[in-house]
Amino acid sequence: MPEASSDRVTADVVVIGGGLIGAASAWRLAVAGLDVAVVVGEPGAGASRVAAGMLAPVSETTFTEEALLALNLASMRRYPEFVAEVSQASGLPSGFRPGPTISVAYNADDAARLGVLADYLSRLGLESQRLTSREARGVEPLLAPTIRGGLLVPGDASCDNRVLLDALAVAGDRAGVRTVPGFVHHVVTAADRVTGVVLADGSPITAGAVVLANGAWAGQITGIPPVPVRPIKGQILRLDPGRFPQPGVVVRAFTRGTEVYLVPRDGGRELVVGATVEELGFDHRVTAGGVYELLRDARLAVPMSSEYVLAETSVGYRPGTPDNAPVLGHGGMDGLVLATGHYRNGVLLTPVTADIVAEVVLHDRVPAVAEPFGLARFVRSLQIGVASELKETHT
Ligand SMILES: Cc1cc2nc3c(=O)[nH]c(=O)nc-3n(C[C@H](O)[C@H](O)[C@H](O)COP(=O)(O)OP(=O)(O)OC[C@H]3O[C@@H](n4cnc5c(N)ncnc54)[C@H](O)[C@@H]3O)c2cc1C
Repeated sequence: MPEASSDRVTADVVVIGGGLIGAASAWRLAVAGLDVAVVVGEPGAGASRVAAGMLAPVSETTFTEEALLALNLASMRRYPEFVAEVSQASGLPSGFRPGPTISVAYNADDAARLGVLADYLSRLGLESQRLTSREARGVEPLLAPTIRGGLLVPGDASCDNRVLLDALAVAGDRAGVRTVPGFVHHVVTAADRVTGVVLADGSPITAGAVVLANGAWAGQITGIPPVPVRPIKGQILRLDPGRFPQPGVVVRAFTRGTEVYLVPRDGGRELVVGATVEELGFDHRVTAGGVYELLRDARLAVPMSSEYVLAETSVGYRPGTPDNAPVLGHGGMDGLVLATGHYRNGVLLTPVTADIVAEVVLHDRVPAVAEPFGLARFVRSLQIGVASELKETHT
């Protein structure tokens, strides 16, 4: 356990942020025998509680993001073992639900878009199967009869992120992770090496390593090289199907050029419908337009969804980076480890990120799968940004 004296806490490692990334990393490090303190911020405000929990490396494949695809697939491969370990360590369910995932198209344009995705997946050798409208409704009978066809991805699954987060907190607790309420204000350094953090209330924690895992807020910590992470707002809904049937599989739909997804939970108690993607900073408003569009598009794909009760509306902030990929590994000074910027895939990327953090902290080694995601890839543009800011203020 970390030691606490009258006003000083010491630990081997301080993890900043208690979302899925921070909690999983802290647990891994504690199991490896380190004294770990996690400064948790405001746990309810993190994206990890808000997210839909799709584990969709294949369905989310995007042109030109092949390095990210490799990382996503590596994490997906680890999921079954990871959740089994979390469940065993915590004595709690993990929320994991195996695939498949089905993507469907609403009109001819949407079908063309789905066709382009299907061709790309088959060129990459990723398992997926084109379906006619009738075949798609054979897989998911609640789909609208008007849909133009579908794409079945057997390997894409889901995980109830709230259930996983609760299990990770207990697993961490049992492994000796110490939870520290509050917000880190800055990282303390001496001769280019981190020596701990100071919280917003002025209290210090001394540690030989600091893991930056505070999601969309990562750019706010001072005392370290800048990390180019920004919040990308997402509004998301939770529906209660009540006595009505709900989809048995994850449904993703292209509807008149927009995208919506419906993620069922075990037991039929909740269907998650998401999500808007908005560049509005930390704007916490749930808007009429956001809710309307999500419900409208969900109904086009699964008409039954309009019978469900609107049980919860929420907003989360995806930690976005300039290239939509996470920032992992060394943070530009000894002892600083980065684990942020997971954007749309942080639930999926939790197992691989925790392993990468453990490898860097314990063995000072960045695993090959993480090499493309270092801070260095942004350093040139950050320097240009700083240089142009300086120029502007001097002209
Ligand atoms: C609407 C929506 C839907 C999503 N759907 C999916 C999905 O289906 N699948 C998927 O894989 N991903 C999804 N994501 C993305 C995923 O939720 C995130 O990538 C992931 O949760 C990031 O986890 P995190 O632990 O890095 O950050 P968070 O969960 O945001 O946790 C960061 C924590 O750090 C705390 N904090 C902030 N500042 C400080 C500080 N100074 N000191 C201490 N603590 C601090 C915060 O209070 C917060 O609790 C979705 C995101 C959103 C918003």
